[in-house]
Amino acid sequence: MNTEAAVRECLAGVLDPELGASIVDLGMVGAVRVDGPRVEVEVALTTVGCPLRAQIERDVVGALRGLEGVSDVAVTTSVMDATAKRELLSRARLLARESAPTTTIPAHAPILMIASGKGGVGKSVVAARVASALAARGLTVGVLDADIWGFSLARLLGIEGEVTARNGRMIPLEKRLGEGAIRLLSMGLLADEDQALLWRGLVVQKAVAQFIEDADWSGCDYVVIDTPPGTGDIAMTLARLLPRMGQIVVTTPDPGATRVAARAADFARKSHVRVLGVIENMSAVTAPDGTRYAPFGEGGGRDLAENLAVPLLAQIPLDGALARVGEDSVVARTVFDELAERLISDVAPPLGARGCSARLLETLEAATRES
Ligand code: ADP
Ligand code: MG
Repeated sequence: MNTEAAVRECLAGVLDPELGASIVDLGMVGAVRVDGPRVEVEVALTTVGCPLRAQIERDVVGALRGLEGVSDVAVTTSVMDATAKRELLSRARLLARESAPTTTIPAHAPILMIASGKGGVGKSVVAARVASALAARGLTVGVLDADIWGFSLARLLGIEGEVTARNGRMIPLEKRLGEGAIRLLSMGLLADEDQALLWRGLVVQKAVAQFIEDADWSGCDYVVIDTPPGTGDIAMTLARLLPRMGQIVVTTPDPGATRVAARAADFARKSHVRVLGVIENMSAVTAPDGTRYAPFGEGGGRDLAENLAVPLLAQIPLDGALARVGEDSVVARTVFDELAERLISDVAPPLGARGCSARLLETLEAATRES
């Protein structure tokens, strides 16, 4: 059976989505009761109508379900009084100082890690098209191709050129898309394929760390990260350096494939990375004559999303044009457009777009300055 301490330790991995700090460290976790497989937790929020309430509740439930022996989680929320809010503010300030940013990724920019248990499911195509759809909305989207050996984003995005440095930081290569832009860093821009293939373990982790720590991502509204398949060293490095990123799991519709995809989510839970949702790729298509083709089966995405208790964000049908650089595709225009809208409006809106604790922090800081 779990102890209260084990529950608190697990909850330490749940971050306040706005302040980016652990809800335990922020003093938001109240009473914890463990009764066999049932866990009851009290969470104190800053305001009654906190729009992030549902997300915090979901994250708490998700984290605790990952604990062995827990099958039932009940979350009750309360609202902090003025003293508690003041304490939260000072803790948040302290934590922000302690975890001084090692990256130039703006605090308001959501970081989306595109992951899967295995290769060939369409992660890179999805990463490229999601980034393009966000950029088409006038946003500046950083794209980090963390698939050191299997890099493909430069080709998929049609970006080439030489990476330069300014003040000791690599400058991602930019491609403007309407009002928006894509800024890419990929091993494909730095080394040739034969060279990269020789790299092993530590060198690879270091390369990924450099893409994060020694690069200039300032000015980005979103950062999309493409990853190699599986849950290896690169994923660990990303989780360590970017604890606030959210993972999007890509799977094919084959019910068997979802077991593999679930491994990526398992990794996320263990390394306290939030799973934002599932994308099913290579879904069934209906031909003009009404015939339905489902070469990779059906239902896998929905099942996986249900198992993980996260939303199924999109079902992307088979479409050969999706992978060809610069090629327009009906799927890209419709499905990815909708997906981008969904990410912006409710899955991963830039912080500050709707908020309670960050806004509270600003209000309190303004008040402190005035007095
Ligand atoms: P991963 O990055 O997961 O290894 P890729 O993005 O490289 O996968 O995609 C694997 C292959 O499948 C590529 O050849 C790609 O063009 C193709 N592909 C991906 N998604 C689709 C789709 N929805 N329709 C048709 N082909 C696709
Ligand atoms: Mg890939």
